[in-house]
Formats: sequence, structure tokens, C-alpha cells
Amino acid sequence: MTNYHEYLSILRRAFPQPVSDQEHDAWFVFSVLRALDRVDAMKSQRPILGEPKEIDFAAAVQARVPESMSTVELVSRNLVDHLAGMFIWGHPRAQVNVINPPCIPGILGTLLPAIYNPNLCSEEASRGVALAEAEVVSMTAELMGYQPEESAGVFTFGGTGTLLYAIRLGIEKTLPGTMQNGMQGELPVVVCSDQAHYAVKTAASWLGLGSNNVITIPTAPNNEVRTCLLESELRRILKEGRRVACIVATMGTTDAFGLDSLEQMHQIRDSLVHEFALDYVPHLHADAVIGWAWSVFRDYDFTLNVLQFPDRTLRALAGTNRRIRHLHLADSIGVDYHKTGFAPYISSAFFVKRGEDLHRLSRDPKITPYLFQSGEYNPGRFTLETSRSGSGPMAALGALQLLGKTGLRTLLGHLVTMAETLRNRLSAHPSISVMNSENFGPVTLFRVYPDDIDTFEFPKREQTNADYAPRLLQYNEYNRRVFQLVHAEAIRGNGVVISMTDRFRETDYGQPVVALKSYIMSPFSDQQYVQAVIDSIERARQQLK
Ligand SMILES: *Cc1c(COP(=O)(O)O)cnc(C)c1O
Repeated sequence: MTNYHEYLSILRRAFPQPVSDQEHDAWFVFSVLRALDRVDAMKSQRPILGEPKEIDFAAAVQARVPESMSTVELVSRNLVDHLAGMFIWGHPRAQVNVINPPCIPGILGTLLPAIYNPNLCSEEASRGVALAEAEVVSMTAELMGYQPEESAGVFTFGGTGTLLYAIRLGIEKTLPGTMQNGMQGELPVVVCSDQAHYAVKTAASWLGLGSNNVITIPTAPNNEVRTCLLESELRRILKEGRRVACIVATMGTTDAFGLDSLEQMHQIRDSLVHEFALDYVPHLHADAVIGWAWSVFRDYDFTLNVLQFPDRTLRALAGTNRRIRHLHLADSIGVDYHKTGFAPYISSAFFVKRGEDLHRLSRDPKITPYLFQSGEYNPGRFTLETSRSGSGPMAALGALQLLGKTGLRTLLGHLVTMAETLRNRLSAHPSISVMNSENFGPVTLFRVYPDDIDTFEFPKREQTNADYAPRLLQYNEYNRRVFQLVHAEAIRGNGVVISMTDRFRETDYGQPVVALKSYIMSPFSDQQYVQAVIDSIERARQQLK
């Protein structure tokens, strides 16, 4: 039998000391260092930590809360072990997905709140960390062309959360009072492109609209919404007397970096409001969780080109800027600092062009709008979450302050330069076809074919002609096998980890088109690793002969 006080005194050492105790403070820092040291020991030339090992979920079912206490040291080992097999996103041999390697200030922005645990629910519980949220919101709003004095923003649980906010706000605009009364009668619809992220449907389902009330509009080969079809579809919906809760513009599609024409979408929306004399304005949301960061090029002088980007890069950046510079036309914008802002997960914010829009989501509408007037900062009145971590805004603040516009321009410019180099080399290969050659981001989709295929003609035919369906499926399978071989090689430390998308788009006759995908996100990416992708694919092609 042990008096609990004995346990308590042991446990107290497992917490940071409330009053500085230099010896213990040092031990705490040392515990962090030890954990990091152990992770560092797992690094090799390979783009993964430690050994790739099977993830044994059957064993996880056996996990139980232990009866007895453990030590910081033992738990630390166990936690580090859980990182084994993780891809190192910042490794130049990793070109996997739109997952950015976090920069050190971004990491500190997550670590510090983990220690002092601010809760953004209220100013009282977060103090200066609440200020960090307000600062990041203003910085980003201005970057994207909003007026920080009029706009507002809140951090939430991911890009999906930003869409949930946008669609909820749209519902409230088209059906005022539903925050209290719920929805009755015919449900409004949400409209987006067929390349929009599935999170639009997730949000619609969870909000009770149902995913069937998300209407998707076909995209052009450059993965942007066909605005003429958007217009005719909206007109059809409005003629039927249905309401449009939200139009989502995707500013950077997940697989291809397609960018919708927000400018045209905005113009179509406005003219339909006028034409149908609507008693509301359909909410226009920009899902810019990927594309927002390119706002740093809004005021880059492309002629002067002080950063001396190569011509092709310059063209690609200008091609993106051409669309991204219109972000301010959207009523709201979703931003993921954890996708293209070099911050760790979760760091996402929802922005509204007019701050008062957020009042529509307030819990109690009878309360006079308190925000931006009383000077009080209590986003907990309208945020979906109650407790909200301070790590999102602190991580974003750390990253934005470190990088500044110059740093973001440098990193994005480098990633795009690497992607352009890859495209150049892929296009030069007689048996490879780049599938998103008209998109200008860090992601490249491509299909690999056996020797005898004419890649000048064939990709077009299999896209458009249903007679080619059997061969399309055959080459889908071929690409899967190339992917597996390239992947296996990458895990062995020779080659590059890329990924595969099962359906980056559909053929005109409704079949999925598989593509290999290189998403370059590492500041350490370099020419030699671009060549390594080509070499690895070529070895795979030879093996499949
Ligand atoms: C990733 C992504 C989302 C979802 O964002 P999360 O942060 O992963 O929740 C939404 N839209 C687009 C275009 C995305 O790429």
C-alpha cells in the first residue's frame, strides 16, 4: 500500500514547474532534446524515419490503459517509436502530397501553446495568443487583398472546417433565422466544380443539406470550372425556384492545382442576382486552402524579377497570380497554413470579407453585435468549437514572421521551378505524358505508357473516345504497377516517393483516369532528385516489359 502522496510527488516532476526551478526546467528541456535526438537517429538517406514497418492495427486492439504509472523517459521512447516509418516531407526524395514540412518557428508556435495551453475560446484564457490570431488574420487578409479593417477571420479545425463555416454562412444568408429555427421546406444547393475537394460534400452532409444537394459543374482540361456551364446551371436552379446557399470557387485543386476564374464567377453571381431579382446574394466562397500563399506574388514585379526566377518559373507564377489576385472578390476564403504556409497541422483559418457576416453565426442573435465595436475579442460566441487551440495561429504567426513575403516567394518559386524542371523532363520522355501541363503549381500529374504508344495522340484519344476504354483501363493498371515499383525503390532509398491518384479526372465517357503525381514541397528539393524520378520510372518501365 502506498499513500497517494508518494505518487503525487513523483507525478509533480512530470509537469513543467509552475515556479521556475532551474534544475527541473533544464530537465524538461533535456527531455525534449532527448526525444528529438532519438528521432534524429532514425534519419537516413531514405525519405522515411527508421524502418518501414507494417502498421499492426490488430495489436492496437489489445492496447489498454496501464495500471501503474510510467516515466517521462519511457513514454518519450514509446512516442518516438510511433514515428517510425513516417515519410519525411522535407526530404528531397519525398514528393508525395500537399503536405508541407513545417519551419522551426512554425514548430515553436505549436510547442509553446502545448506547454501553456491557451484556449482561444476567450480572450481571458488566451491573452496574447488571442492577439496572435488577430495579427495573423490581419496579415493574411491584407495579403489576399481584403481590407483588414473590414474583414475578419477565425482559426478552425482544417480546410474542411473553413468550408463548413462558408456553407453555414451561405445557408444563413439565403434562409435567415435557420441558425435558430433549422431548415424547413426545400433545401438550398451548393455549387462547385467537379474538381472541388470532397470536403464540400462533407460539409453539406454534416450541415444537413445532404451531399446530393451539392451540384458539380464540369471542368475544362486545365481543371478550372467551365464558367459557361456554371452560369447555365445556376440559371436552371434559380428558374426552378431553388435557392443557392453557396458557390465554391476552388483556388488550387488538390490533385492538379487548377484555379477557377473567381472573377467570372463573381460577375456571373452578381448578374444573376440582378436578373432574378433575388432577395439574397448567394455566398461566394474561395476554397484557397492551397492557393492562398501565392498571394505573395500579387505585388511582385514580374518585369523587374528581383529574385531572378528563371523564365519558365516566372511564367508559372504569373499564371497563378492571374487568378489568385482576384481572391478579394470572394465573400469568404479558406486558408490552410498547414498546406502551403510551412506550418504544422492544424493551422487553418476562415476569412470573411465583411466582419459582420460572422455575427450571423452568433449563438444568441439578441446580443448586440459585440465584435469590432466594443473592442472585445470573444470569438467563442460564434465559433463552431468551444475550446480552440492556440497552436494554429501561433504556428502560422511563426511561419509568416520567419518567411515574410520574400521567404514565401522564395520557397514557392523554388518549388515551382523544380516542378517545371520535372515537367520539362517528363515531356521530353517519349513514353510519358504530363496531364496538367496547363496548371502552374508544384504538382505534376503524368501518365506513363509502354514503348509503342504515341504520346502525342494517345492521351487525347483515351480521354475522349469510348472505343479506347479497354486500353484506358489497361494503362490505368500499367500506371499502378509503375507506381508500385517506383514506390518500392524509394522505400529502399533509391528513387523518390511520389504518389498516385486513382481518378484525377474522368474521361468524357465516364471512366476514371489514373495518374502518377509528384508534389514537390521540400525546400531541399533539387535538380538531381527531379532526375531521380525520371530514372526510377524508366527502371520500372524496363521491368514491366
Ligand atoms: C486539403 C483540401 C481541403 C481540406 O482541407 P483539410 O485542411 O485537409 O481539412 C479542402 N479543399 C481543398 C482544395 C484541399 O486541397
